[in-house]
Amino acid sequence: MTQDQDCIFCRIAAGDLGTAFVYESDAVVAFDDLAPQAETHVLVIPRSHVASVADLGRDQDDLLGELVAAANSVAMTRGLTESGYRLLTNHGKDAGQTVFHLHLHLLGGHTLGPLG
Ligand code: 5GP
Ligand code: ZN
Repeated sequence: MTQDQDCIFCRIAAGDLGTAFVYESDAVVAFDDLAPQAETHVLVIPRSHVASVADLGRDQDDLLGELVAAANSVAMTRGLTESGYRLLTNHGKDAGQTVFHLHLHLLGGHTLGPLG
C-alpha cells in the first residue's frame, strides 16, 4: 500500500494521530471533518495514498466503489438516507483542494446550498 509520511491523511489513516474513525475497512477509513461545513461533514479516504480523483486509474474501480459504499454506509448510520446528502471531491486549485490525498466529502443534516 502506497503511503506518504508527509501526508496528513496517510498519517490519519495509519492511526498515528488518534483520529476516531466513523467507518473503517481494509481499504477505506472515514472520520469527521476538522472544520465541518454542514451538520454532518465526514471525509471518506482510501488508506493508500492517491493524490486526487484525477489520479484514479481504471484498475482502481474497486477502490472507488469502496469509497462510495463507505460513504453510503456512514450516511445510513447518520440517518441521512431519507433526508438526503451530498458526496463531492475536489481536484486542484480551482476546486479548492487543500489536502492532496483523495477524499470524498459527505455533507448533510439540513438543506445544502447550491454548488459552484
Ligand atoms: P479539500 O479542500 O482538500 O477538498 O478538503 C480538505 C478537508 O480536510 C477540509 O474540509 C478540512 O477541514 C479537512 N481537514 C484538513 N486537515 C484535517 C485534519 O487534520 N483532520 C480532519 N479531521 N480534517 C482535516
Ligand atoms: Zn496520503
